[in-house]
Amino acid sequence: MQTFIPDSIKNTPEGQEGDRILRKCVHCGFCSATCPTYQLLGDELDGPRGRIYLIKNLLEGKSADSNTQRHLDRCLTCRACETTCPSGVEYGHLLDIGRGISEERILRSFKDRILRYGLGKIIPDRKWFSVLLKTGQFFRPLLPPKLAASIPEKKHAQAWPSVRHRRKMLILEGCVQPALMPSTNLATARVLDALGITLVRVPEAGCCGAVNQHLAQTEATMAHMKRNIDAWWPLIEAGCEAIVITASGCGTMVKDYGYLLRNDPVYAEKAARISDLCRDLIEVIEKEDLSCLSLKPDQRKIVFQSPCSLQHGQKLGGRVEALLKQIGYAPSPVRDSHLCCGSAGTYSILQSDIAEQLRDNKLKHLTADQPDVILTANIGCQQFLQQKTAIPVLHWIELLERNLKIS
Ligand code: SF4
Ligand code: SF4
Repeated sequence: MQTFIPDSIKNTPEGQEGDRILRKCVHCGFCSATCPTYQLLGDELDGPRGRIYLIKNLLEGKSADSNTQRHLDRCLTCRACETTCPSGVEYGHLLDIGRGISEERILRSFKDRILRYGLGKIIPDRKWFSVLLKTGQFFRPLLPPKLAASIPEKKHAQAWPSVRHRRKMLILEGCVQPALMPSTNLATARVLDALGITLVRVPEAGCCGAVNQHLAQTEATMAHMKRNIDAWWPLIEAGCEAIVITASGCGTMVKDYGYLLRNDPVYAEKAARISDLCRDLIEVIEKEDLSCLSLKPDQRKIVFQSPCSLQHGQKLGGRVEALLKQIGYAPSPVRDSHLCCGSAGTYSILQSDIAEQLRDNKLKHLTADQPDVILTANIGCQQFLQQKTAIPVLHWIELLERNLKIS
């Protein structure tokens, strides 16, 4: 794609990067076929190719208004278009650049600004989120059914395995997961402990930064990334072999630290090392010898919902399903498994109509074979799907942990 970016923009890091990415796009439109918002809304500007044109216009300094912002807001950042694109267009990075420019140039309504500010402050803050969640759980019986369904029931965390192995890995506990679903990281720690690996928690680390990144809040994103790097670095130097992430959305983000901080004179090198050490849980478990666990699969019928961040963001599609088959389960096939469930960070709050349509479609396909349990690999998808189904939605590691018979 030819670009005409004025020097004032082209000579900035975003301008150069945007230009590089835009030039790869040959506007073939293959990506539209796999874009969930294009499929639902049928508007070229709600598909990747249309959004790429809008971002090109922004970079070329052409006039833009709230319509531009609306079409960019409606993007789920699911990156299905990246998986489809034959030219290797890094749409996710281009979208971040476009959203950054659009935030600077186009003033949002007061209500929108307050909502986005609040989401960017509360969700990534573990303490604030926990207080709000506990308040919601306390008043749950008094709330309207739709609102009550969005508040998960209280979960109790059990004891974390003690430090006892030579092999050590760090875990990103994240922001919302410890409050919403403490059982996921605990199950991870117990399975890894049984495999001879101690999982180390680092309380000084927190949100990966993805929530603020999706809201185009660059300063807050950078602050989260740098705080995590500072918190992890001494343990990396002490020999921790990996940073394990149990939420694929967060894993996608941490794997991008090296890219996002590539121009930072202080953090570039450390960020690249952190990204290099970052592993989704499946990348850790699939490499270990599981025979010592004597896993005894039960008879339950299972289905796996592959989060976009796992299959498109990290290109790890099919890996969890393969592991589940290896240990004796038979996950049901899922129609349109490449499409987003609608959760997508804060998307389910900010674009609830589209998100709910996507969830309905996803649940229809996930439950076609009447499973006893739905498995996933990302807390956002887990919570969002669970709000609309009585079938338990679990992280896949919990299924392994429940079948654990350590020999
Ligand atoms: S992003 Fe890729 S698939 Fe989409 S129009 Fe551009 S080159 Fe084609
Ligand atoms: S990231 Fe997802 S929603 Fe956004 S343009 Fe690409 S396929 Fe469509």
